[in-house]
Amino acid sequence: MARRRQIYEGKAKILYEGPEPGTLIQYFKDDATAFNAQKRGTINGKGVLNNRISEHVFTLLGNIGVPTHFIRRLNMREQLVRQVEIVPIEVIVRNVAAGTLSKRLGIEEGTQLPRTLIEYCYKDDALGDPLVAEEHIACFNWCSQDELHDIQDMAIRINDFMSGMFAAVGIRLVDFKLEFGRLYEGDFSRIILADEISPDGCRLWDMTTNEKLDKDRFRRDLGGEVEAYQEVARRLGLLPEGGDNAVLDLESHRKKKG
Ligand code: C5P
Repeated sequence: MARRRQIYEGKAKILYEGPEPGTLIQYFKDDATAFNAQKRGTINGKGVLNNRISEHVFTLLGNIGVPTHFIRRLNMREQLVRQVEIVPIEVIVRNVAAGTLSKRLGIEEGTQLPRTLIEYCYKDDALGDPLVAEEHIACFNWCSQDELHDIQDMAIRINDFMSGMFAAVGIRLVDFKLEFGRLYEGDFSRIILADEISPDGCRLWDMTTNEKLDKDRFRRDLGGEVEAYQEVARRLGLLPEGGDNAVLDLESHRKKKG
């Protein structure tokens, strides 16, 4: 197939022009970054797992009526998505204190929050994605009030659904990040869920052992990143049971074998 035009390269994904107008191909890389890209590395096979996990979650969310950019998975590392105009806000949903919330407010990691907390960060790498208030979003018109309401409603629904989905497989959904985009239909646009949902952007703790099954293993040099991502995929029923680290990606398998 002729090489496609690259639209954008992010830290963990590349976007290519899609086969039809209004579509993009989202390619999942193995690259991992943390702390605003001050720490960089590779997690072999991560892209394959995240592609599969994100496909699964977006499909289920679509089934319960959450509009998403996901169209279909194309292959091991790529999915076809709708082209949207990304709202420049990272929406962080928290059920349990961890990460920057714990640091900022001195709340011990693992403390159950009395209610779900939604935070917003302004998407700007140079500024380190700073935390902002709803007032900033309105003041700088990063999205309209109606759009923000839609985003909040969807974030709560997504959290309810995903908390249940993960709880059913013994995983506590501590927190996660969402991104939304505007889908243009003629003169109108509506907000849909974009980006990805995977252990890169979620905190997932084993319910009995509290073991971290997410990117914090990379951020905190805990090791076992691939195994953790595989465990999430396995519990969601996306890997064959009992396989010895099922070979999903021949390229990384070959590299591993040397
Ligand atoms: O680091 P912090 O505690 O603010 O992260 C909250 C949640 O949002 C975590 O699940 C983290 O993986 C996710 N996140 C992300 N991308 C960012 C910031 C946070 O996926 N740029």
